[in-house]
Amino acid sequence: MCGIVAYIGKQEAFPIILKGLKRLEYRGYDSSGIAVQKDGELNIFKKQGKVAELEAYVADKDTSGTIGIGHTRWATHGEPNDVNAHPHGSGNEKFALVHNGIIENYAILKEELITRGHTFKSDTDTEVLMHLIEEIKSQQDCSLFRAVRLALNEVHGAYAIVVISKDNPDELIAARKSSPLVIGIGKNEYFCASDATPIVEFTKNVVYLEDGEIASLSLKDGLKLKTIENQEKTPYIQELEMKLEALEKGGYEHFMLKEIYEQPRSIQDCMRGRLSLSENMVSLGGILNYKDKLVNAKRIIVVACGTSWHAGIVGEYLIEELARIPVEVEYASEFRYRNPVIDENDVVIAISQSGETADTLAAIELAKSRGATIVGICNVVGSSISRATHCGSYTHAGPEIGVASTKAFTAQVTVLSLMALMLGREKGTISDERFSRLLIDLDNIPHKVESVLKTDAQIQHIAEIYKDSPNALYLGRGINFPVALEGALKLKEISYIHAEGYPAAEMKHGPIALIDEEMPTFVIATQDASYEKVVSNIQEVKARKGKVIAIVTKGDKDVKGIADHVIEIPKTDDMFVPLIATIPLQLLSYHIAVMRGCNVDQPRNLSKHVTVE
Ligand code: GLU
Repeated sequence: MCGIVAYIGKQEAFPIILKGLKRLEYRGYDSSGIAVQKDGELNIFKKQGKVAELEAYVADKDTSGTIGIGHTRWATHGEPNDVNAHPHGSGNEKFALVHNGIIENYAILKEELITRGHTFKSDTDTEVLMHLIEEIKSQQDCSLFRAVRLALNEVHGAYAIVVISKDNPDELIAARKSSPLVIGIGKNEYFCASDATPIVEFTKNVVYLEDGEIASLSLKDGLKLKTIENQEKTPYIQELEMKLEALEKGGYEHFMLKEIYEQPRSIQDCMRGRLSLSENMVSLGGILNYKDKLVNAKRIIVVACGTSWHAGIVGEYLIEELARIPVEVEYASEFRYRNPVIDENDVVIAISQSGETADTLAAIELAKSRGATIVGICNVVGSSISRATHCGSYTHAGPEIGVASTKAFTAQVTVLSLMALMLGREKGTISDERFSRLLIDLDNIPHKVESVLKTDAQIQHIAEIYKDSPNALYLGRGINFPVALEGALKLKEISYIHAEGYPAAEMKHGPIALIDEEMPTFVIATQDASYEKVVSNIQEVKARKGKVIAIVTKGDKDVKGIADHVIEIPKTDDMFVPLIATIPLQLLSYHIAVMRGCNVDQPRNLSKHVTVE
């Protein structure tokens, strides 16, 4: 799930790998480790906790060597501790391996290996793979590359791995299936990492490994690529567009805050070249070849997880309202195991920030096998989902480092808004006049987001009042219902306060029982079609002495009279309120989490790239 960094070249490997692991910290993890090879010795250093703890642990140790592998672990098999941390060495201590993912048939392999005399130090599935490689190598007396390749033919599950050997200072072996791995090509040196962030400061030339590929990175023989079935492949070298500044905090205390503040620009970047007021048009280049499929779709199914699933629900309201195509929004994890009714008249929109979400990838494969057209909405360029789909639109939000998604969410909603407008225009389901008005409104969103960010001091004040609440309720109606869901998710993810989002009218079917003087209820009560109904819901909360914090349209009077606090946001078309109303909820969660002393960028137990199901 988390991070791999490896290096082979002329420079000292340890500092490069350590820095790379720090760049990958945003992915969330519980322990870390690095192995370096020097003069026929393999030294493995690993520690539970943050990379800083590993750094402190090696302070008085010799970490020199010009070839090494590093890892941040998000435990799946065995608790997070020093022993279970990676790299894992082989029984004969000749090889070491780092692994992201899960070896599903590890138990049966482990039993077999034990009967062959192997003993295991850790509880991990990874150590089993290391021993399997060792076993094959000694039985077949073959190269390490071949042993790794054959071992991978025997495992089920997901993996990104890198292997080094004590005896061979000249080779790193890397392979992937369902977990990402990128190779960076420098001058007489190679890098390998889970994403490009540790690589970008060294080289712009990268090769994204495909599923089922295995690579040898050798200073003598260069980069060699094969499939695990032993077919030769030619590496496809791409140029990275990522900028280093995007990976730094740029003066903000946390990445999350930086990313919240980046939203005027990220929403703008997402619309750039796609929305033109002067030409009165919207065009998403990445889906043009499949436009007819979308326009004629009998139904659209959105598959996603977490925050992306919330963006999908906003998309449902947008597309149904503007393009009149029925939309269903599915948890990818449920969809993939349900034998869904789906055929070639359906279009599936897969949404994922990282583009690596395992369940979403599996849902795509299933829908594809039934003939559906798949459209991707991803943030990470070149990611697995962007390659597995027929067509798609990148969100262009730039790297998102905070584990809790903020700017990626608003960029996903922006793409869905553009898509709904484009489809509505094509299908003739929006009048010319409404289309033009919506275009102007959408174009204005970045300015309006900017103005909401200026209310941060007031939001901080509200956060101070409610920071100790054990529970919180979030309510919204219509297109703002998913905003309530997202608000609740953001709060629970980073502050560990139990929070739930509900359609406002559903409150009386259960959650109202929770309302008392202590319970804060955050309500999106902007002046839209359901305004009066939401005002009634606020009255219901107040009648039970609950505390109400309402997000209202600038100038609102009615809600101001009854709510405990109001946060004003500028007026926009009902369709685009989620893009603005989300911002104060992000800031509230952020401030509450900081005030509670939580690690906002790396909340406990969470991973940014959920590459296991
Ligand atoms: N399944 C492995 C473990 O639990 C790897 C986890 C990861 O992806 O970090 O050690």
